[in-house]
Amino acid sequence: MADILKDIQKDLPKVISSANFEGANIVLYTDDIDFFKDNEGKIRELVNKFKKRIELRADPKLLKIQEETEKIIKKIIPEDSCLSEVLFDPQRSIVVIEAKRPGLVIGKSGLILKEIREKTFWTPQVQRSPAIKSKITESIRAVLYQNNNIRKRFLNLVGKKIYKEWNPEKMEGWIRVTFLGGGRQVGRSCLLLQTSQTKVLLDCGINVAGKGKEKFPYLDVSEFKISELDAIILTHAHLDHSGLIPYLFKMGYRGPVYMTAPTRDIAALLALDFIGVAYKQAAAPLFSSVDVKEMVKHTICLGYNEVSDIAPDMRITLYNAGHALGSSMVHINIGNGSHNLLYTGDLKYAKTKLLDRGISNFPRLETAIIESTYGSRNDVLAPRKESEEQLIQSIKETIKKGGKILIPELGLGRAQETMLILEEAMHDNNLPKVPIYIDGMIWDINGIHTAYPDFLNSQVRKEIFQDNNPFVSDVFIRVGSASERKNVIEGGPCIVLATSGMLVGGASVEYFRHFADNKNNKLCFVCYQGIGSLGRQIQEGIKQVMMNVDGKEETINVNMEIVTIPGLTAHAGRNELLEFANRSQPRPNRIIINHGEQSKCLDLASSIYKLHHIETNVPRNLETIRLK
Ligand SMILES: [Zn+2]
Repeated sequence: MADILKDIQKDLPKVISSANFEGANIVLYTDDIDFFKDNEGKIRELVNKFKKRIELRADPKLLKIQEETEKIIKKIIPEDSCLSEVLFDPQRSIVVIEAKRPGLVIGKSGLILKEIREKTFWTPQVQRSPAIKSKITESIRAVLYQNNNIRKRFLNLVGKKIYKEWNPEKMEGWIRVTFLGGGRQVGRSCLLLQTSQTKVLLDCGINVAGKGKEKFPYLDVSEFKISELDAIILTHAHLDHSGLIPYLFKMGYRGPVYMTAPTRDIAALLALDFIGVAYKQAAAPLFSSVDVKEMVKHTICLGYNEVSDIAPDMRITLYNAGHALGSSMVHINIGNGSHNLLYTGDLKYAKTKLLDRGISNFPRLETAIIESTYGSRNDVLAPRKESEEQLIQSIKETIKKGGKILIPELGLGRAQETMLILEEAMHDNNLPKVPIYIDGMIWDINGIHTAYPDFLNSQVRKEIFQDNNPFVSDVFIRVGSASERKNVIEGGPCIVLATSGMLVGGASVEYFRHFADNKNNKLCFVCYQGIGSLGRQIQEGIKQVMMNVDGKEETINVNMEIVTIPGLTAHAGRNELLEFANRSQPRPNRIIINHGEQSKCLDLASSIYKLHHIETNVPRNLETIRLK
């Protein structure tokens, strides 16, 4: 069995005091000052030879003391970088510098960081401090700092597993994928990918609109054992993809979960909110905040387009999916190129106000698993511009009548998109100046958006960089308490954006209860309404809703106007899905369709086959497809 750490050191002079894994990355520590300052390209040679990320850091005994280091850093970095914090991770010889303008800390071609490194021997890492204070991002960063030791050990262990049978040759063997949830349905997405040596879970969600056992993926099948799971990959933070991951930690999972950094922060926030909602409904929550913390501690964040080994026979890359902040498609290179699989998660194949279009160019591709939320021939979406105009017109009509508009939103994605549309319209005097109230979790998630502008499209990113942050525009009013909510309900014409998006719990239901009776008010759906949800029933024309209010049954008459604007969805419409199938480079041999109601999946599958001559499959839950 090859030992990659030993193999790497063979080519170096005797200057390495210790070598470690940090997940798939390799870190070498040196106690030789000259080698640390100038290794004459030796490390670069190793990276090229082994095709792995290899980093050289100073041995902890070389490090300047922390107080002095902080002084040096403050002296070196320019004042207008707006430094907010300097944090030390002495176990790993890392100093984290948090500033409002990270670019200024880095300096031209990284010159300032280089100076810090040479003067202090610490390895600097730069982090952006969010423009809107984000409590969750702060507490996640705190959890990670407090657990530096555990984290170092965990990452080393992950690396040992990845490289235990290190083998750069192509590997043959079988590959199959089992649909534990999300087959011919939306909600509870969960796929088990297996090879002869590795088991990986792709997403593990909850169907919030489902009843009883139908809420959860089929985790009671014989081939799924938590103790045998090597890794979890999460495409994005929406509960139908992420919701059950903390529960896996409750059941004892302690392996890595791969995702982008914004997905980690939002998934943690949504999981904590999910616990809160359960308490409000007087139900026992599935997991506790301790389990959410475990998830955070075991998360390995990857950037877009960053290649990372996750098992001896699997290498993954996350690509922008265009669906929500930090959302990604997972490309999995199995057996050193023996098979290449793409799982899109939720996909938007068009530019939106917030994000760039999903990626469709991949290094190699044999099988693609794609979503089909809007896959049927009835789901051709109106152009974006037209849909935005429709929203504005619809709001104007209602305000003219003196009514209120309720837009139920998923906290992540749609809400921020709607905010940008409304902000622009108001800015251009295309909307009367009525208050826009933001209630529920939307505000916290706005904060996370400003912490990770690199994941937004170039326009919004530029606005945030120029301190012209659209999310903090004064047209938005945050509703933070029950009494503030009462004022909105009793007040004049306004626009209300509130979670949850499908009217299953949360502030949106509260507003609906009070707005429903008045025919001058309007309910405007801009996101997908799951089967069985209150939103879906109202969308389909139900005129009376029974609701339990403080233990009493209450009848709500639905007299308000109901409008759906499908063209504002964060999912690819029918034409985008067909275009994605056709334009993917290289073209896959097979497309597997999931995450859509049965008729939509079947319709999309037959169209892709007829139009583009690509083999398609539409698995049911519990079905397994052999890829190789
Ligand atoms: Zn989603």
